[in-house]
Amino acid sequence: MKATPTVEKAEIEAQLAVMRRIKQNNAGRELKALVETYGCQQNVNDSERLKGMLAEMGYTMTESRGEADLILLNTCAVRENAEQRVFGVLGAMKHIKDERPNVIIGVCGCMPQQSAVAERIKAKHRHVDLIFGTHALYRFPSLLAEALEHRSRVVDIGGGGAIAEGLPSLRDGGVKAFVSVMYGCNNFCSYCVVPYVRGRERSRAPEDVLAEVRALAESGVKEVMLLGQNVNSYGNDRGETDAFARLLESVGKVNGIERIRFMSSHPKDISKTLLDAMARCEKVCNQLHLPLQSGSDRVLKDMNRRYDRERYLEIVDYARSVMPDLALTTDIIVGFPTEERADFEETLDMLRRIRCESIFSFIFSPREGTPAAKMKSRATDEEKTAWFNEMLEVQNAVSAERSLACVGKTYDILVEGPSRHEPDMLMGRTYANKIVNFKGDPSLVGKIARVRIISAQTWALLGEPV
Ligand code: SAM
Ligand code: SF4
Repeated sequence: MKATPTVEKAEIEAQLAVMRRIKQNNAGRELKALVETYGCQQNVNDSERLKGMLAEMGYTMTESRGEADLILLNTCAVRENAEQRVFGVLGAMKHIKDERPNVIIGVCGCMPQQSAVAERIKAKHRHVDLIFGTHALYRFPSLLAEALEHRSRVVDIGGGGAIAEGLPSLRDGGVKAFVSVMYGCNNFCSYCVVPYVRGRERSRAPEDVLAEVRALAESGVKEVMLLGQNVNSYGNDRGETDAFARLLESVGKVNGIERIRFMSSHPKDISKTLLDAMARCEKVCNQLHLPLQSGSDRVLKDMNRRYDRERYLEIVDYARSVMPDLALTTDIIVGFPTEERADFEETLDMLRRIRCESIFSFIFSPREGTPAAKMKSRATDEEKTAWFNEMLEVQNAVSAERSLACVGKTYDILVEGPSRHEPDMLMGRTYANKIVNFKGDPSLVGKIARVRIISAQTWALLGEPV
């Protein structure tokens, strides 16, 4: 078996010691920290580790910038508007530093992992004390210690991305939890910055993933979402094949875990073995997030996706043959530079054929350093926006039909808590991740309830317990 780079135990111990030291120094002071998260589930999961470390250092969490003694922005670099939002927030935070110079302000995650962006933050936002990238996450305690002790700016965007086990994590205490099973990506889709900011694929050892899932189950978590940029290649860097299918089966044996989901799976290398394992393992929800990105073979080639329409349709056919109730979701990019109207229409055609529950759709955003950023765009911005809206209309109709098809059926719902808009109702989700609101006893929270669907809106269903 090949070795995947991991952070030495001694180094983790050293970070834990720094956390204890900071906690001692903080004793008697009521310090509050705010971690703001931008971007994907992986970032949410990283923020949980940052919060876990902060809690070990004696900080309590707050949602308010105004009362925080430490503010950390965990950033996303996938699209330009996410970056612009962070720059906007950084600008707005200057007055916090002017009014309360002791506040520590940090920027971490995918944005500063790009050296040009780190330079821009350094040059234009002098009130930022801490700048560190995704690879330095486990070093946060010692970086913070340096910033606190020397009252000088600390920057760390190096590191090879070795896997760090044994760090604390602070989750929201709900019934669902994210568990990263691997980091990084080897695929280099021509539009995507992820391989540059997250590095190459590194898989956690199955025993480490299982230990985390067992601990979550003991703390009352019922559903885990296993995360990786492409879980199909989980274990490949450790010299294993089909390791994710085996991992699913092992996680399925953890007592207390009722539901398992995962994302993402790349259409180029999803295997029948994985789909069969999903179908076989009762706890694995029959829900598949399979990003299509485009329905045009020519655009898919330019995107370096390494599959075509036919391959995608074959996978969906096979998946539905072994899981007839499969709930499919996908990602679509509109306005890729080489996309023309005819290509876009092929995307619409695919959406009508594959009939997703819902889609995550984005207008192409050029990312510096990626091949697609150098390609000349064939459509105007106005056309791209019009296409985007047209696509939403097509998909909303499909989503509405799929929701309507649920009416009269009975589902097992994992109850998450009170409904967001109607607090006297409960909210839970079906295996397909559809939101269901229903009147029920609050003691059902955290449990699976049988609920019959009585009506449907596009995004949520109304039910009654049976
Ligand atoms: N690894 C996942 C995969 O391959 O499906 C995706 C990870 S990425 C964080 C999530 C989604 O963002 C992608 O599926 C894609 O649709 C979108 N995305 C990535 N780069 C983009 C770009 N430059 N412009 C617009 N959308 C982009
Ligand atoms: Fe980005 Fe492609 Fe990797 Fe997904 S598979 S993270 S879209 S490079």
